[in-house]
Parts: sequence; structure tokens; C-alpha cells
Amino acid sequence: MRLSRTVIFLLLTLALGTARADWHHREAAIMGTRIAVELWADDGAVGERAVEAVLGEMRRVDALMSHYKPESQLSQINQRADREAVKVDPELAQLIIRAARLSELTGGAFDITYASVGHLYDYRAHTRPTDAEIAAGLGAIDWRHVIVDPQASTVRFSRTGVRIDLGGIAKGYAVDRAIGIVQSMGIAHASVTAGGDSRIIGDRFGRPWIVGIRHPDDPGRVIARIPLVDTSISTSGDYERYFDEGGERYHHIIDPGTGRSAGEVRSVTIIGPDATTTDGLSTSVFVLGPQRGLELVEKLGDVDAIIVRRDGKVLYSSGLGEPP
Ligand code: AMP
Ligand code: MG
Repeated sequence: MRLSRTVIFLLLTLALGTARADWHHREAAIMGTRIAVELWADDGAVGERAVEAVLGEMRRVDALMSHYKPESQLSQINQRADREAVKVDPELAQLIIRAARLSELTGGAFDITYASVGHLYDYRAHTRPTDAEIAAGLGAIDWRHVIVDPQASTVRFSRTGVRIDLGGIAKGYAVDRAIGIVQSMGIAHASVTAGGDSRIIGDRFGRPWIVGIRHPDDPGRVIARIPLVDTSISTSGDYERYFDEGGERYHHIIDPGTGRSAGEVRSVTIIGPDATTTDGLSTSVFVLGPQRGLELVEKLGDVDAIIVRRDGKVLYSSGLGEPP
């Protein structure tokens, strides 16, 4: 029996309809922030599974590392590591080791023990520690107080009063993990964002992905649009979590040396090879300020920076050049 052309056309349409190449897009609220996924899949079902896998991975990392969740392994460390070595997943031990390396590289500007004082700020409730509370807590801020045994996969604090918080690096880490998963599913064009941290693989409709950097005082205004392919980008800003009081801004990026919000810049954007790196560095350069921050970026070589100074001036690292 010969099939008519119309029947063949109908069968083909049906077959292609179930496995249609298309873009898949999803947004969700996880890790206390906005998650956005956009990816291209040759097979529609694979695309949907990849989107679900990204969101699932974000939830998994959050459950492991959130300091809001008392049952998370990170919270277990904060509750018990001053008395005993706390057993954790190797993955968490490794990220804490990575954070310590960044502390060393940045002369302590990045320091997950900032939380020893940082936990006394509540930006929603507009409360902050007194000078006496800051002075009492400062001694507990030092990344060297955190002792990780990678073989035993345990974490211990060398003294009491220490708290850690991976908020400066965990979102970038989760983005990298998510990108790894979609790549293993054969996806070659994707963008995954968690709050201010994004990683991009491939291009978008044959063109670069465009990521906008917002004006620190106006979410509707963009100060720069950056075309990106196969890269990561993170922005840290003093407008993310904050309250204003007496002409001062109290925000969530804390100078470990003072226990107070870092004040020299409004935002820092880092472009680099992976999102764990760009996330950690955007927080670090924010604390270091424009001069020492740009020095570090130039020294590293494989990253670029866009810094909005407190007076509004925008500075670019040499890899981006000064636009006209
Ligand atoms: P980001 O938006 O990536 O700059 O991350 C800001 C978050 O990093 C804060 O909400 C804190 O959880 C954490 N953080 C604040 N100050 C520091 C610091 N000096 N070193 C490491 N993490 C920090
Ligand atoms: Mg960061």
C-alpha cells in the first residue's frame, strides 16, 4: 500500500510535534532569590526535563547550604562545630575549602565567618548590631577559625562564637552545578540565573546573550548591556538587601575587618569562566573597593570587572576597555 503525500506529511508533523526543537523558559523563587532558566533543546521532552533538573538542583543545594534552614548541614555546622567535628557531605566541605582559598587570595575580604557578626543584621526588620556587639563579635571573624578535614569530610571551629554563611558563593556554585547537569543532558545553548549570578553556554539564536547591569538606584535603568557567549557573570549590589537609616545604608555585604557594610562602591560586576568564581569575586571586590578590587582583577587575568563607585562613576577593567 502506498501512503499518500498528505498522510506522510501528517505523520511527519505528528512525529516532529512530540520531539520539537524549541526554547524552554522558566522562572522560580528558590534560595531566597529569583531563578531563571532558558535553554534550547532539540527534543521538547528533554528540554522540559532539563528545566526541571535545574530547579531540582537549586533546591538540593539550598537544602544543604541554607543558613535559614535549621536542618541544613550548614546550620548543623553553626550549631555544633565549636564543640565537635561535624560530618558533612564532601561537596560542602569542598566549597568551604574553596571559600578559604578565596579568603587567602583576597587578603580576607571574602570571609564566610563574616556571619559571626553578620547574623546580627536583619535587613527586613531594620535592625543592626550595636558598636559593643560588633566589637565583641569581631574576634570570631577569621576564616582560619574554620578547620576542614577533607578526608574525614568534617568541619570544626577553633573557637566559640564563629558562624559561617555561604551566601557570597553558593548561588554561583548552584548555577555551575545546574549548567553541568544540562550539559550532561546534551544541551548546548542555555542561560541559568540565580539572583545576581548567571552562567551562559553557547549563543542565543546565533547571537550573543545580552545581560544588562542595572543602575544601583533604579531597577528600570540599565547602565551597560554586555554581550556574552560561554561565560559567567555576577553582580553584587548594595541595593539587594538593605535598609537606610540616618543617611547611612546598611546592606548585606560586610567588611570582615570592621563588621560593617562595605561602603566604597554601589555595585560590582565580574565576568569570568565559571559562576562560583564570579560570585565569590563580585562579593570580594565589593569589599576591597575600586582600587584594590581592580588590582586583583588585573592580576587574575581571566576575569573582568565593572564597578559602580559610590560617586556614580563606572570603572572598567582593562579587558573591557573604557567605552566612548
Ligand atoms: P553577593 O550578592 O554574591 O555579593 O553575596 C552577598 C552575600 O554574601 C551576603 O548576603 C552574605 O550572605 C554574604 N557575605 C556578605 N559579606 C561577605 C564577606 N565579606 N565574605 C563572604 N561572604 C559575604
Ligand atoms: Mg557573590
